[in-house]
Amino acid sequence: MDAKPKMLIVDDRVENLVALEKTLGDLDVDFVRALSGNEALAHTLEHDFAIVLCDVQMPEMDGFETVEFMRQDKKTKHLPVIFVSAIYTEDFHMVKGIETGAVDFITKPIIPEILRGKVQVFLDLHANRLSLEEEIKLRTEAEQTIQEQYDDIQIHTHELEAANQELRETQTKLLELNQEVQESEERYRDLFENANDLIQSVDAEGNFVYVNSAWLEVLGYEMKEVENLNFTDVVPEEEWAHCQEQFQQILQGERLTNMQTIFLTKDGRHIYVEGNAGARFKNGEFVANRGIFRDITERKIAEEKQLELDRMKQEFISNVSHELRTPLHSLKGFVKLLLGGKVTDSETQSEFLSIIEKESDRLSGLIDDLLDISRLESGRFKVYKELVSLENIIRDAIQRVGSLANERGITITDEIQPELPEIEVDQKRIRQVVTNLLSNAIKYNNENGSITVRSEVTDNELLVQVADGGIGIADEDIPKLFERFYRVEASDRIEGTGLGLHISQQIVEAHSGKIWIESELGEGSTFSFALPLNEN
Ligand code: ADP
Repeated sequence: MDAKPKMLIVDDRVENLVALEKTLGDLDVDFVRALSGNEALAHTLEHDFAIVLCDVQMPEMDGFETVEFMRQDKKTKHLPVIFVSAIYTEDFHMVKGIETGAVDFITKPIIPEILRGKVQVFLDLHANRLSLEEEIKLRTEAEQTIQEQYDDIQIHTHELEAANQELRETQTKLLELNQEVQESEERYRDLFENANDLIQSVDAEGNFVYVNSAWLEVLGYEMKEVENLNFTDVVPEEEWAHCQEQFQQILQGERLTNMQTIFLTKDGRHIYVEGNAGARFKNGEFVANRGIFRDITERKIAEEKQLELDRMKQEFISNVSHELRTPLHSLKGFVKLLLGGKVTDSETQSEFLSIIEKESDRLSGLIDDLLDISRLESGRFKVYKELVSLENIIRDAIQRVGSLANERGITITDEIQPELPEIEVDQKRIRQVVTNLLSNAIKYNNENGSITVRSEVTDNELLVQVADGGIGIADEDIPKLFERFYRVEASDRIEGTGLGLHISQQIVEAHSGKIWIESELGEGSTFSFALPLNEN
């Protein structure tokens, strides 16, 4: 750009060329001379000209012809031309394609100012064109760059779109996978949740991580409480050492089957469980201890009950043997004395005979109890009801235990409501109940103690109560007293078989009645039973 514009001056005479250069010496251009049309054309191949100053009258090829050739070439098609001629001529309009470039005309003799003025106009035009071209070039380049960048962006956009599509597909696959995982998780959860077994997962510190609904239901906790629970909260203290020992085995990778332990419910009950436990490891690291247990409390209780029953039966057998042997010994002893003929006075004889009678009664009473139990167990126990006076039954019973009460200096007071209505019962069996309650009240009483027998009508029932001021019964024993063979340990030194109360309860219940106990240890007991009154 900094190079000067070039000007082609064409004239067949050198002096004219020199004169031209001189005239135009002030202008900031480089001159290239041509002495003929051909030379001029040759120069145009080599240089880029801003303007041509061309003599019209030349031999061989005149100025018009020269320019006509130039117009045919793409490079010089638009080249501005000033024709120089000795005469004014309009002929230059005949030049083919002349209109494609700027053309002017100047006559000789040349007036330097006019020539300079015309040349200057063309030079300015050339400069303008150049700067225009430059700008166009710059713009084109800029446009090209923008286009390239745009293409680039386009390519990137395509790549991005492809990547995006891939991402979307991966995402869809992930979603599907997730869905599958969720479904399988739900299936497992459903399985766990609806299992009847107690399922739990505990971390290395013994803190609960997961439990199922059955677990929550049996132990009485809510799900939100579980995260704060440690195994020490749900296992009774006496089981901790045992559990920890098993936990250690699990940590060694052992799987425990049919292990038994005890759970402690939120409200303090013991639940016996049996099941399997093992650890979950991930990359060799302990993750959680998982256990699945069955509630075997009922089975355990039944087993314990059976053990207790076996123990009681054992005790019963020894008690019965003792109960049989004692009166038999006494009978045998007294009979022997009488038969020996040494007891001669009639008073002693009748005393011995009444002892023999009492012991025989005791024996037959015991045998009656045993027969009743056998009837109850085989379902052959029956009651034969008739309309009777309960007052008579009670007085009869008091009379039957009279001598026993006298022996211990015990007084029996009766508080029987006057004119008790008659009641339809098996009088032999109800007398058996009252007699049993009275003889217990005597046996488990203090020396010279007292007994009150009450009877009254309440709420269409006939109530009978036998209250004593005797040894009393501990709270924990009360519910067990009606079980067959059950005897309070403290009663060991007093003769008995543990059958009386059980038989009494069965008799009362066979009359659609109920029997119950109120007692205070060391203060005395009240045994009550109520029988429904006949509607008429
Ligand atoms: P037995 O008197 O032959 O042992 P029972 O079935 O009549 O059997 O009574 C069961 C147990 O209940 C007795 O062993 C005794 O421990 C207790 N018992 C019964 N009556 C009384 C009472 N009035 N006072 C204190 N304890 C009693």
